[in-house]
Amino acid sequence: MQFPGRRRKLNTNSVQGELYEHLLQFYGQPPIENISLTEFETLAVERLKLLKTVENVGISHVKVSEEYKKKLDSEFKNLNFPNKESEYDKRRKDHISHFILRLAYCQTEDLRRWFIQQEVDIFRYRFNDLKPKHKLEFLHRNDLQYGTIGAEEKQTLMDKLVNSSYAGSGTKVEDQDIYKVPFQDALDLVRTRKVYLKAGYVYIPHQDIVTIVLNDFRTRLSKAMALTARSLPIVHSDERLQPLLSHLSHAYVGQDYSIQKNVGKISLDQIDSLSGKSFPLCMRQLHQSLREHHHLRHGGRMQYGLFLKGIGLSLEQALQFWRSEFIRGKVDADKFDKQYAYSIRHIFGKEGRRADYTPYSCMKVILSNMPSQGDYHGCPFRHSDPELLKQKLQFYKVSPSGISQILELVKGMHYQLACQKYFELTHNVEDANFSLNHPNQYFIESQRLLGGGGKDLKREVETPQKTKPAAAAPELTAKDVPEIMEDLDSFFQDA
Ligand code: SF4
Repeated sequence: MQFPGRRRKLNTNSVQGELYEHLLQFYGQPPIENISLTEFETLAVERLKLLKTVENVGISHVKVSEEYKKKLDSEFKNLNFPNKESEYDKRRKDHISHFILRLAYCQTEDLRRWFIQQEVDIFRYRFNDLKPKHKLEFLHRNDLQYGTIGAEEKQTLMDKLVNSSYAGSGTKVEDQDIYKVPFQDALDLVRTRKVYLKAGYVYIPHQDIVTIVLNDFRTRLSKAMALTARSLPIVHSDERLQPLLSHLSHAYVGQDYSIQKNVGKISLDQIDSLSGKSFPLCMRQLHQSLREHHHLRHGGRMQYGLFLKGIGLSLEQALQFWRSEFIRGKVDADKFDKQYAYSIRHIFGKEGRRADYTPYSCMKVILSNMPSQGDYHGCPFRHSDPELLKQKLQFYKVSPSGISQILELVKGMHYQLACQKYFELTHNVEDANFSLNHPNQYFIESQRLLGGGGKDLKREVETPQKTKPAAAAPELTAKDVPEIMEDLDSFFQDA
């Protein structure tokens, strides 16, 4: 495969040079070069990290504030993505990685919405950072032929401009560019009466032009995502790409919680108490349901079984745990040994392909395998009806104001942040001081906070790394995924 050299300067005469001549683009033209599968994966994982970072920063800071900008400046630098002036390589990375994630994130409505939101936020940040001259250049290059009005027209309209859009901007009208735009291109601003409208044109102050450009970007991207989704059957027929893309859409880019250094250091009689203190809501719900019904369906057994393995349950303990619970219900010991024991050994990599299965990340729990009636798996912040979630939180003694904060985050579809808030409220800390990505991370952080000297566990809990090297993030290779999933699923179906 062709693999272009590194750290090149822009050659504006080549097609690629043209593509990367400007920092900002509408991503109208897909990449035209060949890249290796390894680079494909690496770029995808790096962009995923960027999108997740942008999401987190957007929640903890006001999106147009100076702190938000500063935080993103430093994150873009850390993650090696272009902002301000940048080299060819960074722009190329930005372009290609955007298109790879388009493929991975066009598959469902939820994924599309999430992806578009983060890309729009990136675009806003970059556009706001352009110099006025470059903004105008960008508009013209993308057929948004908006002009700015001259000093004379500005003077004539001064009163109107000051009384409409100018109010509260903090900059004198004389000192800022005012764009004259056909009103149909600025319906949002007209609807909210933010601009002066005259003879079919609206007069938009420099700082508000971003609204129009963003609308345009969002519309183009939505359409492009819908088109990309239509070509999915072709992409899926490529056996190298299909598992990679589907894995990417659930990918987790943090610590690998399948690595267990403390297997067997947790005792079965600790589980009830740990579930109340240190399990995230998803696992607390599964544990409670298992204790109540003495059974969990396939999705629940997978999610909870892998979580327990991740916190340190040994295979023998897991067999004992599930067996003792199931035989209290409708499953007799013989049936358990024949039907369920194999699947538990399989989770631990002792049967079938002997793969070391990784506990599910929040992304995977949230985005895949929606629970249906009678299921208890999934993420309560994502999959529970808000009224039901409220009742659960009341039952777990979360304060009314805490419940409101959580429900507000859920309403904004910030499920992991809602879970993080639940962590803060149940652990009585103001700031959890970590960015939640994984149920096992929740457990470890909780134990670190509560255990201190290791009161609950007979083991020292590891401090999670925030991230691991990008290329190592996918837990399975493209070659492995389909076989493993098939193999695994066949052993975990309910009878
Ligand atoms: S956000 Fe993650 S840890 Fe929290 S309940 Fe949902 S899946 Fe579990």
